Amino acid sequence: MRDYDAIVVGGGPAGSICARTAAERGARVLLLDKASFPREKACGDAVSGKAIRVLREMRLKEKLESRPHAKILGVHLSSPNGTELKISIPQTRADAYAYCMRREVLDNVLFEHASKVCEFREKTQVVGLVKENEKIVGVKVADLSTKQTREITANVIVGADGATSLVAQHLNANALPPQHACIAVRSYYQNVSSLTDRIEIHFVPEALPGYFWIFPLGNGQCNVGVGMILSEIQKRKVHLPHVLETIIQSSRFASRFVSSERKSPVMGWTLPFGSHERTLAFDGALLCGDAAALIDPFTGEGVGNAMLSGKMAGETIASAIEKNDFSVSFLSQYEKNVRDLLTPEFQTSYTLQKWSRYPFLINLAFSKAAKKPKIQSILSSMLADETPRKQLVNPTNWFKLLIG
Ligand SMILES: Cc1cc2nc3c(=O)[nH]c(=O)nc-3n(C[C@H](O)[C@H](O)[C@H](O)COP(=O)(O)OP(=O)(O)OC[C@H]3O[C@@H](n4cnc5c(N)ncnc54)[C@H](O)[C@@H]3O)c2cc1C
Repeated sequence: MRDYDAIVVGGGPAGSICARTAAERGARVLLLDKASFPREKACGDAVSGKAIRVLREMRLKEKLESRPHAKILGVHLSSPNGTELKISIPQTRADAYAYCMRREVLDNVLFEHASKVCEFREKTQVVGLVKENEKIVGVKVADLSTKQTREITANVIVGADGATSLVAQHLNANALPPQHACIAVRSYYQNVSSLTDRIEIHFVPEALPGYFWIFPLGNGQCNVGVGMILSEIQKRKVHLPHVLETIIQSSRFASRFVSSERKSPVMGWTLPFGSHERTLAFDGALLCGDAAALIDPFTGEGVGNAMLSGKMAGETIASAIEKNDFSVSFLSQYEKNVRDLLTPEFQTSYTLQKWSRYPFLINLAFSKAAKKPKIQSILSSMLADETPRKQLVNPTNWFKLLIG
């Protein structure tokens, strides 16, 4: 008999929600993380409507709202030539809003929630996988306090260990070409002027294809960052922290930063996009969250998909235990469910991302959208996660809307 039904590697949003979901359904789960919680994570800290839907289902919304956060009621966008669009989340429900919340806070709540129902070990790094006849049967771990290593076995290993996933590498999951990944950096600031209850996304020329953001966190604090497609960074030999500083000092933003104070070093990380599919199910193993490359290739949103995939992986593990079947053919239902849900969104977003390489197209789209209430209304319902997905999946519809 194996030591556990499932070992979940990584206690971020994907891993914590996977561990909680599987354990609540009776699985014997071990959740491992090399860090000790609360821990920092480089992120824009925007928690979208999609993520909030999962948090509501997990009855965590009230608990999270008792922690420091900003309520977000819309988005303020600007194009390379400075045309501005302010889109509001339609106020159809009392809780029609998104959040900005430091990941140090959000992830700690999720990890604590999981650790109430499963075994967990922090400061424990997975350094390899244990195989029996090509089937994954466990992990090799290093205790980072004692430096001792040991093997622990389970029927299913879940790789939820983020963008540079060791589990994905050891499973030979396909690597992402640089046009399907992004690098982003962020820093925390105090007293940037004119912060509102909207997140700000600015398609400035220095960041294309990518964007500069200012996300309010409440109490005069905000998360300021920039992200750009990896292939362009490599081609142009761009140094992102330098790009961030150049944008902040530019005539468009400098006056807002005059009285500001930078409160943290610039921190960056990779964003693996869902526009290039990675295998997600193996004999005795699953990948979820960033380890599964599920970040939206246009918006850079990954927390919601990490939560959704973690939940689906947890549910699949519970069914696998019921059937006593941990084969790739059984676990593949997880991969199918994830693809059915997310592939159409990724396809649309990848097309929008490709269009965003051309500043004149973004300028045109903004000038049309500024004049067309119908486009603003679609963008608005997208923010609320309410637009039927079918309306969004065809980029031609967007094109018709813009030129019509
Ligand atoms: C700069 C930046 C800005 C972003 N902004 C946003 C945003 O505003 N909104 C949004 O929705 N998304 C954003 N994203 C994407 C988002 O951060 C990720 O999609 C999200 O964190 C994925 O969650 P996860 O649980 O899959 O992985 P992670 O949050 O990365 O968690 C992985 C966990 O695994 C642990 N781990 C790693 N390796 C091992 C190992 N070998 N053994 C044990 N443990 C291990 C790590 O310590 C970590 O706790 C941003 C990303 C970046 C880099």
